[in-house]
Amino acid sequence: MIYGEKLVENPIRWAMVGGGKGSQIGYIHRSAALRDFSFDLVAGAFDIDPERGKEFGKMLNVAPERCYPDYKTMFAKEAQREDGIQAVSIATPNGTHYEITKAALEAGLHVVCEKPLCFTVDEAEELGQLAKRQNKVVGVTYGYSGHQMIEEARQLIADGALGDIRIVMLQFAHGFHNVAVEENTASTKWRVDPKVAGPSYVLGDVGTHPLYLSEVMLPELNIKRLMCSRQSFVTSRAPLEDNAMTLMEYDNGAVGYVWSSCVNCGSMHGQKVRIIGEKASIEWWDEQPNQLTYEVQGEPIRILERGMGYLHESALAEDRIGGGHPEGLFESWSNLYSRFAQAMVATDNNQTVDFWYPNVEDGIEGVRWVANCVRSAEQGATWVDYE
Ligand code: NAD
Repeated sequence: MIYGEKLVENPIRWAMVGGGKGSQIGYIHRSAALRDFSFDLVAGAFDIDPERGKEFGKMLNVAPERCYPDYKTMFAKEAQREDGIQAVSIATPNGTHYEITKAALEAGLHVVCEKPLCFTVDEAEELGQLAKRQNKVVGVTYGYSGHQMIEEARQLIADGALGDIRIVMLQFAHGFHNVAVEENTASTKWRVDPKVAGPSYVLGDVGTHPLYLSEVMLPELNIKRLMCSRQSFVTSRAPLEDNAMTLMEYDNGAVGYVWSSCVNCGSMHGQKVRIIGEKASIEWWDEQPNQLTYEVQGEPIRILERGMGYLHESALAEDRIGGGHPEGLFESWSNLYSRFAQAMVATDNNQTVDFWYPNVEDGIEGVRWVANCVRSAEQGATWVDYE
């Protein structure tokens, strides 16, 4: 159980790049990082517009002289201070992640980067090697993975409760962009511009989330080959897709799919994971994240509830309020930021941690999956070996 007590001795001096006023994801980064006294927000280059960024930073109680016009100035100036930043979170549009992460690592900082980590596998692997050389953590905010029931699912599967895994059904299919909302919304506009978004829209933007959840639940499973068909139902989005169906074959003989979409009319979020084994299935839906369905063939369906004593110890360790009270995405992110902080401190002391968190390897894997999907789609939705 997390009681909001300190998890690291000294809060990490932390900054943000992006996540400025009105951004979609900036607030949850700050809320998660600041909740357990693991980080102090002491600096930032919060906005592409320096003035707006400065005003916003002051509003967050960041000292005006540490509200910087851009990340390069921030890394340079902070390096000259005895109390300079130790870690930075990057919450800017996709096209900037590679260069900012690289600069941060070169400046000797730990990094939390938004997904996708970058555009190409080569870039991703370069960042992975750089992080290793610099002995720094790169956390990636696959924000749903901090939900307690994800850990419970992982443990149930590890216990063999499902038997051999046969089918992996994944989807993140919301309906909010069924029409060209990008014409009037800045934060959607860049998502359909390949120069800023990268080689995909929904595959990277939403599909990688349930993919990562499946990797947490099924750490032993590896994709052998896949086939992806992608569409731009709103035609002005081409060449980027607003819907994609990816079929996958795994090396243990299991099969699976990921449905990535923003045109699933009527659906709020539509992120679901269903894992089917030879004996039983589990299912998790992010709109009801406190429950995990456990279905044993021939028995009544069981709905496991967050915070209950029958869960695995490692899942209960993530509990923040006790069973019955709903927890949500903010708690999930806080759990991840707590792990990032502990991993950063351990790494600084040349120690390892005994828990998982979305790290640079997971970031690389997300980029790799998108690259394979795009390669298949561009070959006319043919099966391609996973590279
Ligand atoms: P947004 O357009 O709403 O906000 C982007 C912010 O970054 C703005 O404040 C903008 O001024 C700032 N910015 C842009 N370029 C900058 C630069 N060079 N230096 C400093 N600041 C800069 O975007 P968003 O929806 O918040 O998405 C940001 C990132 O977060 C994207 O990579 C997106 O994929 C990711 N995201 C992740 C999740 C998740 O669940 N993990 C959810 C939403 C978005």
